[in-house]
Amino acid sequence: MESYTIHDYDVLVIGAGGAGLRAAIAAMEMGAKVGVVTKSLLGKAHTVMAEGGMAAALGNVRPEDNWKVHFRDTLKGGGMLNNWKMVMNYTKEAPERVRELERWGAVFDRTPDGKINQRNFGGHSYPRLAHVGDRTGLELIRTLQDHAVKLGVHAHMETTIYRLLTDAGRVVGALGFNRQTGEFLVFRAKAVVLATGGLGRIYQITSNSWECTGDGFSLASMVGADLIDMEFIQFHPTGMVWPPSVMGILVTEGVRGEGGVLKNSLGRRFMFDNIPERYKGEFAETEEEAERWLQGDRSARRPPELLTRDVVARAIRKEVNEGRGSPHGGVFLDIASRRPADYIKKKLPSMYHQFMKLGNLDITKEPMEVGPTCHYVMGGVRVDPDTQATNVPGLYAAGEVAGGLHGANRLGGNSLSDLVVFGRRAGMAAAEYAAQQTGSFQVDEAQVRAYIAEALQPFNNPQGENPFALMKELRASMQKNAGIMREEGELKAQLDILADLKKRAWNTSVSGSRAYNPGWHTALDIRLMVEVSEAVVLAALARKESRGGHARLDYPDPDPHFAKINHVIKRNPDGSLSVVAEPLPEMPEELRKIAEAKDLKELSEIVGA
Ligand code: FAD
Repeated sequence: MESYTIHDYDVLVIGAGGAGLRAAIAAMEMGAKVGVVTKSLLGKAHTVMAEGGMAAALGNVRPEDNWKVHFRDTLKGGGMLNNWKMVMNYTKEAPERVRELERWGAVFDRTPDGKINQRNFGGHSYPRLAHVGDRTGLELIRTLQDHAVKLGVHAHMETTIYRLLTDAGRVVGALGFNRQTGEFLVFRAKAVVLATGGLGRIYQITSNSWECTGDGFSLASMVGADLIDMEFIQFHPTGMVWPPSVMGILVTEGVRGEGGVLKNSLGRRFMFDNIPERYKGEFAETEEEAERWLQGDRSARRPPELLTRDVVARAIRKEVNEGRGSPHGGVFLDIASRRPADYIKKKLPSMYHQFMKLGNLDITKEPMEVGPTCHYVMGGVRVDPDTQATNVPGLYAAGEVAGGLHGANRLGGNSLSDLVVFGRRAGMAAAEYAAQQTGSFQVDEAQVRAYIAEALQPFNNPQGENPFALMKELRASMQKNAGIMREEGELKAQLDILADLKKRAWNTSVSGSRAYNPGWHTALDIRLMVEVSEAVVLAALARKESRGGHARLDYPDPDPHFAKINHVIKRNPDGSLSVVAEPLPEMPEELRKIAEAKDLKELSEIVGA
């Protein structure tokens, strides 16, 4: 019989990115005994890749900025499908969470008069992103990690959670294994916070790190938690398409914020031709006006390269499809001809060094070739807007794995501040829930043994399939049939492919020992990846319109019917998934007026600023 070690916590946090670390800190501050589990090392989570900054209406660069403008920008960017209460909580609290990071030691870039500096990003009306060069995520993680360690967090590194454990409909812990040794671990916990990040690796071309296999969505859904808005996947417009050594790697929006422009093969700045009706009047209409904006003229409007990500990504697709793309299927992003080399190296150091080292490309001299890359998922585990509680008692979710804040499209910079606002709320609520659980609860040994047997099955299945080949099939098929542009026939075909892959994912074969065995890890990853892929495809089929990160070739326009609907993915008693259309929660009148303000002038009249 397989042995396992047992660890007991009040609160177990799964994930050590920004959301997980902030949740752990909050729960420890409430007096809970907290364990954090991460697939990689402390300080190595995907969050360290975040570059451009964290959005918060501090008003340091433009005093006119405040939470109401941020509220409107976030809802407008999200196609109004966001959970309004989450947006309100988020935009009100984000500035304090940034200042708190500074108190804990984060060294943000400064304005000339010594305040936290803020930069421009797509969809934000004012410079709003607090940043540390283009290494903001690294500083965020460093700061949170130092703080969590000071408070005495217990960390289980290189440990993958394979299943959540339940007792009488309530989450009571998790089963995992150590990736180095293959040893199984059972975590008994009164409350569990999922902070497992995104799912980019279900696609072939992605900016996401290896950890982003979407485990949290599947783990939650498999114990009955609802998922919401899963059709909305953000394809960041500027992933590198060439050279191959850097394919998929992100070029931060900060490059455009610092003056970089997008051009097609004819040398035309095509974004001027792609300003959607709802943004007309808010963006520069000529290159001359855009140039004045860059030089600091406050009467000029921002360049259309800073439109929201969904708009820019689709415009790039259009250029490529209509034959005006770059030689390798993208468009050109040029900062070299716009800013001096020293300025680029100072403001965008990681971009400069990364592409120089990995691709032998000098961005101070040459334009980059860029195109859309799978970057972020707006949807996620459905949570309460105040506590981040899911519909399953004892289970909380925060960060990219949670849904609701970003609606149909996330604004750049709105994730890092999401992590700290809602990570904190989740940690506090989980600790409070744990403190109330005075009665005894069981971890069912039979459940643990069954899951261990299931996890070891690929070692005892010599005729099974190669897990790497299955993974390749899954990612290629999701890219082709459920990628940036979708259509009913392909989505239905993808459901059939997934049904087939689901069976095959339970029939893989691996050899060797359990220590450091990537074949085994892949065999287990793929089971969860197929589950979450199915949720994405079902939701994408149900939304017969185009909005935000969901674009349908067969329904190219937004449809007023779907403007009022969120899609919720529910687990049926037989284990299958269903999509349920739910009306958006009613927004209070005074907030609705703010959200629907036509432009900043009308907004300032409404809020009296
Ligand atoms: P992550 O940081 O992804 O952490 C997830 C954690 O969960 C990891 O520790 C992982 O090991 C662990 N985990 C996952 N599954 C398991 C499992 N089964 N068992 C155990 N542990 C598990 N956003 C911004 O706001 N501003 C930016 O400038 C910005 N730049 C970005 C640049 C890039 C290149 C990318 C890819 C994203 C960027 N984003 C940015 C988005 C942002 O970085 C992410 O949305 C955010 O970091 C997610 O944080 P998280 O805490 O939810 O999860």
